[in-house]
Amino acid sequence: MKIQENVSLKEYTTFKIGGPAKFFCVVKNENDLIEAFNFSKKNKVPVFVLGGGSNILVADEGYQGLVIKMEMTGIVHAEDGDVVHVTAMAGEDWDKFVEKMVGMGFYGLENLSGIPGTVGASPVQNIGAYGVEAKDTIELVYVLDMQKDEYKTFTNNECKFDYRNSIFKEEEGRYVVLSVTFKLNKKGRLNFGYKDIQEAFAVKRIKVPTLKQMREIVLDIRSRKLPDLRKYGTAGSFFKNVIVSSAKAQELLAKYPDMIVHAVNNKKVKIPLAWILDHVCGFRGVKKGNVGTYQNQALVLVNFGNATAKEIIDLAQKMVDKVFEETGIEIETEVEYLN
Ligand SMILES: Cc1cc2nc3c(=O)[nH]c(=O)nc-3n(C[C@H](O)[C@H](O)[C@H](O)COP(=O)(O)OP(=O)(O)OC[C@H]3O[C@@H](n4cnc5c(N)ncnc54)[C@H](O)[C@@H]3O)c2cc1C
Repeated sequence: MKIQENVSLKEYTTFKIGGPAKFFCVVKNENDLIEAFNFSKKNKVPVFVLGGGSNILVADEGYQGLVIKMEMTGIVHAEDGDVVHVTAMAGEDWDKFVEKMVGMGFYGLENLSGIPGTVGASPVQNIGAYGVEAKDTIELVYVLDMQKDEYKTFTNNECKFDYRNSIFKEEEGRYVVLSVTFKLNKKGRLNFGYKDIQEAFAVKRIKVPTLKQMREIVLDIRSRKLPDLRKYGTAGSFFKNVIVSSAKAQELLAKYPDMIVHAVNNKKVKIPLAWILDHVCGFRGVKKGNVGTYQNQALVLVNFGNATAKEIIDLAQKMVDKVFEETGIEIETEVEYLN
């Protein structure tokens, strides 16, 4: 394994933005990882663990540490009646993994089809889409604790999963995920909770869809809503959705009666931020210089070519300020800034 110097990170991210990493290496097995970790200790440089680079914005100045790109691969499974325990290594491509699970007839991950990135990042961010989150099927997460210099296996409960959050994100820079074990099912039930999915099946006149059809529908919906990564630089939703108190939601509904709300529980309500950005703030499809928001999704910031991180940050700040001015809500970024 080779530690390289001054490697441009642009091409390692889906935003296609950012400066170089002072040190950079590709890790394909546990020995490589230990070597990289020892290098960081010896040279007293911080470590950033990189997967597919689909949820990060790299600073124009780059990163003054060691970027470890996880490329450990391999998938194994063990069956126990209808239950299947599948362990995938961190560097496996997420969507190829989902495709494989669906192909084998294992239920549980189909609604998470089409999300870019790696298996190793799935518990960090607790990725989610169409009513399903990674936490619903994650059983175990095997990590290297870089603070204690030891390996550890986290159970689902110990991961402290929350909306786009987990212990791995809370204690940023401490854990490297080596593999994730998912509990899938050969006789699972499909999740139709989302209106978009119900409507798509109704249009196709499919009453009892198969597992494969569910994946196809999700991929189809996503391709209409999200930019094609081959054409645009983006990291998907730049901001998190908004969770407010029921009282705050009532106040906003009085002002914006068409606003979409989803009850989280009897005290909290989730508001799709895209609706506010689009209908209240007029941010859908805006373009300024090299940056803007996607024409079909105001939550998605786009690099139209040669954008800088500063341009993205300036636009994002404008959006944060405008949402606060109009609604009193302080929005948070989902994409991580690496500097
Ligand atoms: C077009 C588009 C659509 C998207 N749609 C969705 C969506 O529907 N739902 C959703 O939840 N997300 C979505 N995302 C965001 C992104 O795909 C996910 O957050 C994904 O999990 C990131 O994976 P990655 O491997 O690219 O991680 P990276 O961007 O490389 O890293 C993200 C974070 O995870 C950490 N990390 C990565 N690998 C490891 C590891 N092995 N060990 C420890 N830490 C690690 C990094 O340090 C960083 O903190 C979308 C992004 C794009 C570009």
